[in-house]
Amino acid sequence: MMQTKQLINGELVGGGGALLPVINPATGQVIAQVAEATADQVSAAVRTSAEAFERFCRTPPAARAALLLQIADVIEAHQDELAELESLNVGKPWPSARDDEFPLIIDTFRFFAGAARTMTGSAAGEYVAGHTSMIRRDPVGPVAAIAPWNYPLMMAAWKLAAPVAAGCSVVLKPSELTPLSTLRLAELLRDVLPKGVLNIIHGRGAGVGEVLMDSSGIQAISITGSPATGMAALRAASRQIRPVHLELGGKAPVIVFDDADLGAVAAMIRTGSFFNAGQDCAQPCRILAQDGVYEPLVAAVEAQVKDITLGAPRAEGTQMGPVISAAQRDRVAGFVDRARPACEVVTGGRSGAGAGFFYEPTVVANVGNSAEIATQEVFGPVVTISRFSDADGAVRIANGGRYGLAASVWTAHAGRAMDVTARLRYGFAWVNTHGVGTPEMPWAAMKGSGTGCDMSVYALDAYTAIRHVMVAH
Ligand code: NAD
Repeated sequence: MMQTKQLINGELVGGGGALLPVINPATGQVIAQVAEATADQVSAAVRTSAEAFERFCRTPPAARAALLLQIADVIEAHQDELAELESLNVGKPWPSARDDEFPLIIDTFRFFAGAARTMTGSAAGEYVAGHTSMIRRDPVGPVAAIAPWNYPLMMAAWKLAAPVAAGCSVVLKPSELTPLSTLRLAELLRDVLPKGVLNIIHGRGAGVGEVLMDSSGIQAISITGSPATGMAALRAASRQIRPVHLELGGKAPVIVFDDADLGAVAAMIRTGSFFNAGQDCAQPCRILAQDGVYEPLVAAVEAQVKDITLGAPRAEGTQMGPVISAAQRDRVAGFVDRARPACEVVTGGRSGAGAGFFYEPTVVANVGNSAEIATQEVFGPVVTISRFSDADGAVRIANGGRYGLAASVWTAHAGRAMDVTARLRYGFAWVNTHGVGTPEMPWAAMKGSGTGCDMSVYALDAYTAIRHVMVAH
C-alpha cells in the first residue's frame, strides 16, 4: 500500500480536499490519488509547527545533531524503497535513481548534524564602556518550505536539514506532481522527530502553497522552484514582512575556450546535461564555444548525445527517462520548434511515440546568443551551442541573462580560469567540470536565480536571526 497521508501534529492524516492524480511519466498512467490538504489542515500544521518551535528552539545543538544523524540512518536503511518511489514518480532511470542521488541526500543530513554544532559569529566584548555585548544567532521560527518535482527527496533534504539544524520547525509542501517519496518519508520520520517539528502537507501551489505562505504563524519562507513561484513568495512575504530564501531557475553557460579538452566537455555534456532528462537547475545547457573550436565541439557533442539510450526507467540499458509531464514535454518541444528556422537541430528534436512523456536528447547548434532557446530555461533534454570570440565576449554573453545560478569554464590556462570565474555573476562556477556538488560547499544563487544558498554552513543564514544582547555592568 502506498503511503498517501500527510503528517500533521505527529499524526498521519488523509487530506480533506480534492483528490489529485499522481502520474507515472513513463506510461502516463495514474499511480495513486492523493487528497490535498484543506485550509484548516494547513492551519493546523502551522499551529502545531509554532507550538513545537517553542520547545525545539531550546534544544541543545547536540540533540538536533543526533536527530539529523538518525534521519540519515532511516533514509539509508530505506533507500531502495524511497528510490523506487522516486524512479516511478519522476521517471528516473534505475538504479541511477538510487545510486546517483541517495549518497548526497543522506550526506546532507549528516553534514547538517555537524553544522548544527558550529554556529560562528563575532566575539562577545565591551564595545561600550561598562557594557558587555554578545551576538546571538537564534532560529528564526517555523518555516514554510516548498519543494519542486525534479529531485523531490533531495530538495526535501535541503529544505529540512538546514532549518532543523538551526532549531526551526518546518511545514514542508512537496510538488503536487511528485509527493510519493516525501509522504513515505513523513511516515518514516513520524517517530523520529518530536511531534510538530516536521509537518508535511500535500496540494497545489496556487492554493495550498499560497495558504501556507500567508499563514501568520510562519516566520520564514523557503522556496525551490520556478521564478514565478519565487515572485509569489516575495508577494506573500511582503504582506507580513517575512524573510524569503529562494532557489529558482537557471541557465548554465558552459564556456569552452580554444585550449579546452573537447573530449572532456562532450563527455560531461552526455552525462551532465541529460541526467534527470535535463530537468536540473544547474543543467549545463548553454554551450558557448570559442570560434576556433566551434566546429569540432559540435561534432564531439553530437557523437556523444546521439548515442544516449532513451527509455523507460526499468528498461534494460536506459540512460535517460521521460520528462515529468505531457505539459513539460510540449513546452520543451515548443522551444525546439521555435528555434528550428534559425538554428540547426543536430540530433534529437522529436517527442517519443506512446503514452509516456518522452523527448529525445537534443542538440541545437548555430544558436544566436540572444535567441529564446539560448536565454530561457528549457528544463528538459536540450542543449544549445553558440559562438564567442574572446574572454570579454564570453563573460558579457554569460552575464547578460536573467539567471545567475551555475556556470562552467573549460580551459587549460589556470590564469584565464581564475579571471573568467571571478567575473561571472553566478552563484557557483566550475572549471573543467560541471555539476559536482558537496554539502560543505554552497549551492548559491544570484540575480534571477534567487537569494542565499542551500547546503554549507551559509544555508543556516536563512534560518537564523542575528541578535544583540547587551548587559550593563
Ligand atoms: P514550480 O515553481 O512550478 O513548483 C515548485 C513548488 O512551488 C511546487 O511545490 C509548487 O506546488 C509550488 N508552487 C507553485 N506555485 C505556487 C504559488 N503560487 N504559491 C506557493 N507555491 C507554489 O517549479 P517546478 O516546476 O516544480 O520545478 C522546476 C523549477 O525549479 C525550475 O525553474 C528549476 O530551475 C527550479 N529548481 C531550482 C533549484 C535550485 O536549487 N536553484 C533546484 C531544483 C529546481
